[in-house]
Order: sequence, then structure tokens, then C-alpha cells
Amino acid sequence: MNIPEKVLLRCPVCGAEAFYVEKEGVTVSFSVNEAYGVEDLSPEDAALVLNSDTEVYCTVCSWHGAIRELERPE
Ligand SMILES: [Zn+2]
Repeated sequence: MNIPEKVLLRCPVCGAEAFYVEKEGVTVSFSVNEAYGVEDLSPEDAALVLNSDTEVYCTVCSWHGAIRELERPE
């Protein structure tokens, strides 16, 4: 069986696949898959739900914005 590789969306500026939000004073880091689902959530019990209004921050550069602005890998 072929397990399809997970496709993670990327920062439109630097291409990083890791983002964070501040949630009730806690920094929650994660990646976003192509269905706009959360991957690699840390801390794991953060119960983060992304929606179109969620402002996410790149962990590498100064970009921040909505998840619809993230780019698919080429
Ligand atoms: Zn970036």
C-alpha cells in the first residue's frame, strides 16, 4: 500500500512549514496540511482549531496572516 506523503502548506515569504499562534498566553506551534488541518501540534493538547480569521505567525520570518495565504509546495 502506498501512503501518500503529507502535503504541508508553506509560508508565502520564506517557505517554512511551521507556524505558531498565541492562545491564552501559550505559544502553540503547528503545521498546516492542504485541507487546512493542523499537523504536528505542540503542545499536543492545545486543541487548536484554525478558521479563516485565525492569524498565524511564521516561526522563521516575520510573515503573519490568514491560513488561506499559505502556499502549496510546487
Ligand atoms: Zn516565513
